[in-house]
Amino acid sequence: MRQIIGFHFVLKDQFGKTLGDSRDMQEHPTLTLLGSGSILSALERHISDMSEGERKSFTIPADQAYGSVDPSLKLKIPRSKFPKGTDLKIGLPFQGGEKDGWPIIFRVTEISGDDIYADANHELAGLTLHYDVEITEKREATAEEISHGHAHRRKGSCS
Ligand SMILES: [Zn+2]
Repeated sequence: MRQIIGFHFVLKDQFGKTLGDSRDMQEHPTLTLLGSGSILSALERHISDMSEGERKSFTIPADQAYGSVDPSLKLKIPRSKFPKGTDLKIGLPFQGGEKDGWPIIFRVTEISGDDIYADANHELAGLTLHYDVEITEKREATAEEISHGHAHRRKGSCS
């Protein structure tokens, strides 16, 4: 038997900074088919035995979330290495090499004169994640949801 769980969450890091609040960011609670890999497996373990209407707070260490920060994915690049006319600004993504055949995407994190700092770590790498979760819905998955591998908010609708 596969289950569908809907939940609202507030996500904070170990410094108490709010990283996300589903009530602000989304029109609806997050809806997930357990076992589909659409949410962190550690998060799934915490919510899978909760019941509808239940609230819980828990912490997920970085090694069960987005891992630690990999220093080899942080670069300092001279401005001259970028094509002339590049509009360099914080957050600008660019490809820097490949890993296992996939492009590594860096983001510009700091610009200091002619030194451009960039980082390809996941933006949540190195962070302990603190969740406040409220279960809004819990039900059995339909045969259609199981065959699609995701939850449906409305019968027969993939959106
Ligand atoms: Zn579908």
